[in-house]
Amino acid sequence: MIVPMARRMMTEPDPRLLWKFACNMGYKGMRSVHLFKKRIKKGEHFPPFLFISIINSCQLRCQGCWVDVAAPRQMITLEDWNRVINDAKKHGNSFFGILGGEPFMHPQLLEMIAAHPDCYFQIFTNGQLITDEVAKELRRLGNATPLISIEGTELVSDERRGRLNVLSKTMDGLEACVRNRLIIGVATSVCQTNIDLVSEDWLKKLIKMGAHYAWFHTYRVVGPNAAPELALSPEQVLKVRRFIVEMRAKHPIAIVDAYWDDKGEALCPMATGVSHHIGPSGAVEPCPIIQFAKEDIKDERGIFETMTNSEFLKDFRETAAKTTRGCIVLERPDLVRDLVNKHGARDTTQRQTALAELDELEPRNSQHNPGNAIPEDHWAYRFAKKHWFFGFGAYS
Ligand code: SF4
Repeated sequence: MIVPMARRMMTEPDPRLLWKFACNMGYKGMRSVHLFKKRIKKGEHFPPFLFISIINSCQLRCQGCWVDVAAPRQMITLEDWNRVINDAKKHGNSFFGILGGEPFMHPQLLEMIAAHPDCYFQIFTNGQLITDEVAKELRRLGNATPLISIEGTELVSDERRGRLNVLSKTMDGLEACVRNRLIIGVATSVCQTNIDLVSEDWLKKLIKMGAHYAWFHTYRVVGPNAAPELALSPEQVLKVRRFIVEMRAKHPIAIVDAYWDDKGEALCPMATGVSHHIGPSGAVEPCPIIQFAKEDIKDERGIFETMTNSEFLKDFRETAAKTTRGCIVLERPDLVRDLVNKHGARDTTQRQTALAELDELEPRNSQHNPGNAIPEDHWAYRFAKKHWFFGFGAYS
């Protein structure tokens, strides 16, 4: 797998972009995790990876989306963005996830990326607003990778995303990225209506499309349109895990996951402290689907001090880690409610129904399936997870 993968990376993306990826994401990413490990030894929890939702607006209406996509626009300003990124950089961070809504609806997205050539950005997007012009600018900047979400066939995509011709518009965006030799990812939120995408044929199609990495999320039953009937059974989640492990050793495409360590034990990125989230209002949240906060990026202490001193985030990490290696929102929504009440945290949504939505949630399985761990098979993933993506002591 390694040689054909290396051949793809040496021939398909612009070599300058590969270099930026290797430096700003690869080397500096590893360094940021090393610094994170040193910090947590001192009891200082500041995540090496921040995920920032820069806007709430989106042109799609997906099942299971927790963002107020139809509400009045909320955006992170360029000034606030630069303050957060600069402070995080001071503490060794270099990789940031950019989410929404749809990030390409933010009029300053490209300026935000251009302002930090020493960092690397992963843009979670539906791809529909990526024109040749936008892709050309991303190539010129070189420090961002679009992670384009594809949820299934034309029919399934339209159903899942609440609009028409979703897949063809998304494919236009992906093709613009290929033409402009970007490093490209494809993400799928695996659920009942698209679990057939968890197949070798689909992976081969992704390689043909020009995707360099894939991310198979497992569907989260949350938000005002939670659609619990789409959730995966424990057996299906295990199928996804087994597929990921097998395909990593077989095909020249990288497969990302954020839910298992090298031994195949489940983990929660929030509970380990490896990532936290900033909402489109500037709210500092435990993770994207926990839409409650006590702190905000406007805090003049800066994001580092704000997060390392947050009793709310600390309590969330520790309670989640004590409760499960999986997802506390799926498995114990009652505990999420208790933590919110205990800290008097505010509902950060514009719809102001996040607590009521928690009450609606039935406890269910997540990525944690005790006794059924599937360890990494390929040495490269085993090594990478062993050193840069594991429990960081949260579960011991
Ligand atoms: S709480 Fe759930 S959704 Fe949030 S980071 Fe943890 S596993 Fe993921």
